[in-house]
Amino acid sequence: MLTKNQADIWSYFLAFIEERCSAAEFQNWIAPIQVAESATDELVLKVPNIFVQEYLLQNYKKDLAGFVPVKTNGDLALKFIIAEEVKKQPMQEEAPPAAQDNLKLNPHYTFENFIEGASNQFVKSAALGVASHPGKSYNPLFIHGGVGLGKTHLLHGIGHYVRQHHKKLKIHCITTEGFINDIVDNLKNKSMDRMKRFYRSLDILLVDDIQFLQNRLNFEDEFCNTFESLINQNKQIVITCDKPPSQLKLSERLVARMEWGLVAHVGAPDIETRVAILQHKAELRGIRLPHKVAFFIAEHIFNNVRQLEGAINRLSAFSRHMGKEVTEEVVENTLGELLQHNPQKKVSVDNILHCVGTLFEVRISDLRGTSRLKNVAFPRQVAMYLAKELMTDSLMKLASAFGGKTHSTLLHAWKKVSQQLESDETLRRQIEIARRNLEK
Ligand code: ADP
Ligand code: MG
Repeated sequence: MLTKNQADIWSYFLAFIEERCSAAEFQNWIAPIQVAESATDELVLKVPNIFVQEYLLQNYKKDLAGFVPVKTNGDLALKFIIAEEVKKQPMQEEAPPAAQDNLKLNPHYTFENFIEGASNQFVKSAALGVASHPGKSYNPLFIHGGVGLGKTHLLHGIGHYVRQHHKKLKIHCITTEGFINDIVDNLKNKSMDRMKRFYRSLDILLVDDIQFLQNRLNFEDEFCNTFESLINQNKQIVITCDKPPSQLKLSERLVARMEWGLVAHVGAPDIETRVAILQHKAELRGIRLPHKVAFFIAEHIFNNVRQLEGAINRLSAFSRHMGKEVTEEVVENTLGELLQHNPQKKVSVDNILHCVGTLFEVRISDLRGTSRLKNVAFPRQVAMYLAKELMTDSLMKLASAFGGKTHSTLLHAWKKVSQQLESDETLRRQIEIARRNLEK
């Protein structure tokens, strides 16, 4: 049995901690914790989410032991409950009407206009999940992938959806540059408090291209504080980036925060998806694009959706001015350098095996085979990694080109090599060489 009132124990602890951490830390991590009423013989703390609980235990467990009595088995007489009831409150009924007029979204970047395929299905459904239940599914949602593959499109898609379906939620969409400029302006005008209040009062924050926060030390701190404050109130954050969190040159703390929720990759679309995108964009612009022609373009533009769109824009201008049917010949004449010609330059599994075989001094038949000896198995995994990175065929097709492996073997190899690349400088250089040779 505890003798002291539970609330007293907590307020003594708060007073002790407040002097030992920064104001931002206190505000973001400690202040959201409440004492639950029902407690009798142990201190029951209500936390907004599991991260706050872990934070408290990781950083202050020893200090807590000075305040919270210890049970006979040596454990602290301390229990946590996650404030589910906070989560269950439909946010839209709670929040006051939000001023969303200045939400800058590209009107075309809606979910309806986003074409799905194997390379983006998962990330699209994650985005839709977050938009339907902000703060309740994955938080943060971190979307990464190469240039022109639809990251901004999905981010704005979330914005449009929220604006339509949760009218009262306060949402803000900003590029990382925009966020930095905001800080600079507000510092100049001595209105940082107002800015902080604004960001911390949001229900949903959409941040585009977080890679631009790298090497901007002073701004990183402010971003991290905003981030923590929102997350701990279960407010939704969505971030896009050209690389996964682990490859960002940002503080460990921020990287770890970004990995808390869901990290989703958007890849280059396969040929069927490229065709579907072309047809969709052509339809939007009112030009008739025969399937054969769409396929021809898709075969020659493969790693960037923005370029597919550029192709349609040119063709649309052409057919408006000339009033002609869009044929393969017209495509070749109008698109010219946009088309990645020279099919023999296209990477194939054979090229990859040849290149990796030379690089690691392994026979191609061994790479195709099943030997598990490390000096064969690892180069094989590197080859699989390269195939997934450089080719747009389906995993299944690639796997069978490796002598009848399964797609999960290929995926496993890709993951393993990706992970090793983070810490292995030699491997990074070897893969760089292989890439250069293959793409030449
Ligand atoms: P990123 O932010 O990844 O560089 P964007 O979101 O700006 O790429 O996308 C580039 C262009 O390609 C945009 O015009 C976008 O509408 C279009 N786009 C990308 N992916 C798709 C897709 N799956 N369906 C339809 N359009 C897409
Ligand atoms: Mg973008």
